[in-house]
Amino acid sequence: MKFCSACAAPVARQIPKGEDRERWVCTACGTIHYENPRMVVGCIIEEQGRILLCKRAIEPRYGYWTVPAGFLELGESTVQGAIRETYEEAGAQVEVIAPYAHFDIPYIGQAYIFYRARLLGPEMGPGTESLEVELVAPEDIPWNDLAFPVVRTALELHAEDTERGEFRMHHGIITRDGVGGYPLLEHLTQTLK
Ligand SMILES: [Zn+2]
Repeated sequence: MKFCSACAAPVARQIPKGEDRERWVCTACGTIHYENPRMVVGCIIEEQGRILLCKRAIEPRYGYWTVPAGFLELGESTVQGAIRETYEEAGAQVEVIAPYAHFDIPYIGQAYIFYRARLLGPEMGPGTESLEVELVAPEDIPWNDLAFPVVRTALELHAEDTERGEFRMHHGIITRDGVGGYPLLEHLTQTLK
């Protein structure tokens, strides 16, 4: 951030009075420009044992596979956002079955919510942000070509739950270990009945 969105004067890093950390503060009008984590919402769509995956047509991670997910918009609920992202990226109409996972990712300032969902019709096809959309059998999930660690974590847990025949709600913190791993810490689960 360089300039104040309220008055266009330059901003500077300062600790505002009564706070404990640096913020962007306008050097002219004093407006404090807070920056907070962003929420990403998405769907794990199950269709007769297969999972809907999209191949990304945009950076970051162009050409890698993901489940439909994106930034929550102002004015919508997380379920609405997950359904909207699925339509935008995969051209598919879905309904949410159950909450599935909430992952915090402090190192990139994001929090993810995934829902389990099912298709309402057969239509699907790549939107402008996808190159391909496919229903993928568990054994064909491209583990080495998934776009983001959080997607891998979600799909691994989903595969595990599918194997157990019992879906759980998952919560945890995805971290970066610096040597290529993204461990899930403080993993909490609750079996859904
Ligand atoms: Zn200002």
